[in-house]
Amino acid sequence: MANFDLTREQRAGLLEAIIPELEDYYNNTAKLRVTPPLNVEEIRQAVRKVDFNHPEDAKEAVNKITEALRKYIVHTGHPMYYGLFNPRPNFPSIIADLITAVFNPQLAAWSHSPYASEVEDYLINELGQKLGFPEDSIDGVFATGGAEANITAVLCALNTAFPGYASEGLFSVKTRPVIYCSSEAHHSVVRAAKTSGLGIDSVRMIAVNKKMEIRTDILKESIATDLYEGYQPFMIMGTAGTTGTGSIDDLHSLASIAEHFGLWYHIDSAWGGAAVMNENTKPWISGIEKADSVTFDVHKWLSVPMSASMFITRHRNVLGKTFSITTGYMPKDADNLDITDSYTHSIQWSRRFIGLKLYLSMMVFGWEGYSQVIHHQVEMGNLLREVLQENGWLIMNYTPLPLVCFTDQRYISDPEFTKSICNKIVGAGDAWISLYPINGISTIRACVTNYNTTPADIRALVDAVSKVRSDL
Ligand SMILES: *Cc1c(COP(=O)(O)O)cnc(C)c1O
Repeated sequence: MANFDLTREQRAGLLEAIIPELEDYYNNTAKLRVTPPLNVEEIRQAVRKVDFNHPEDAKEAVNKITEALRKYIVHTGHPMYYGLFNPRPNFPSIIADLITAVFNPQLAAWSHSPYASEVEDYLINELGQKLGFPEDSIDGVFATGGAEANITAVLCALNTAFPGYASEGLFSVKTRPVIYCSSEAHHSVVRAAKTSGLGIDSVRMIAVNKKMEIRTDILKESIATDLYEGYQPFMIMGTAGTTGTGSIDDLHSLASIAEHFGLWYHIDSAWGGAAVMNENTKPWISGIEKADSVTFDVHKWLSVPMSASMFITRHRNVLGKTFSITTGYMPKDADNLDITDSYTHSIQWSRRFIGLKLYLSMMVFGWEGYSQVIHHQVEMGNLLREVLQENGWLIMNYTPLPLVCFTDQRYISDPEFTKSICNKIVGAGDAWISLYPINGISTIRACVTNYNTTPADIRALVDAVSKVRSDL
């Protein structure tokens, strides 16, 4: 029989080989090309030449994998990766994931992993208080990502607005329920509507103003019109830090509107929620404390490996109402003790110890460590704006967060301009940047997602785009 444990010698040999290899990658990420050449045939070939009829030595197999990963991924941990909120993972959080894999605690039931469950509960409470929720009402659950947290929010909102939803689903609802968000909201909201049975047409994507924030005047009109026409508005989803431009909706106004119409108020702060970790940036997302629920990714600005997010709510009973199912086979300790089984609070059932990477990071760096890192990245964003402007670039977005969308006034009506710059730089592997359209104008989008990005990296990015521009 195959020895799934491997022998002690094999294990020792594997660890001896893999640890320096991983350390070398982690330490020298900045020396690699940021992006891989996208040769589909070559990559597919590398994967498929493995023949499962001929098992190989574990050490050689591991070597092949790390070599391929070095070659064939975008190195999101590179300081010149200015991307889609993917962080460089801090080192303790990587160790946390390793520990999690070895101990493999099962979080579905509290009694299987009491320590792990309590760790997550503590984190949800601490972060909930940091957001400004009253301590005695906080509840929440760790999720795989913002997409899961957002559909969790939609399901909680449905269960709150429609008491018959748990048994009869949408058949208990007489007229069509409606969700409101801005046209800049993350499309996981649309997918939440698509997969929850509401359908895409149940989402009203409200127009945005010049700063790409939701137009609250249009929102109010839209809700009033829907009510008049017999629809059932039940949820507003605001965004604190949009994916495209880092815009922050007027969170206080949205709170008033949600309260006025009696709607569930969710704030998607998958990336921007981290602003609460620093006293100077926290006011930027003021109003978040008024939400009924919040999406707060850990695997974005809190710089841990994927996947980790938090859904945090100020309503103690809503997750149970939404997800709890009675079974004969699950442990029943939760009935007698003051504890929660996460399978009654989550879309997931068997669940990994997602929270450990945040717990260990917090143990090692604390609030202050996170505050400093957030401050640094905000400073790098400010520097990027400044150096771009010095070099004749035009900043096109409005946000204090370190996400900058820019173009050149002279080429403003030519989408080929930004596209060719982006393609050149990404193609050469010098940096990762992307394109984002703002009010019909194509812009280059660069977001500081790496705590190791330095002023020299920022200047290198501006030099690179400026050089391509002058070569055009
Ligand atoms: C990234 C993002 C999401 C999706 O989160 P995942 O962690 O990728 O599932 C949702 N909303 C916003 C605003 C995001 O930036």
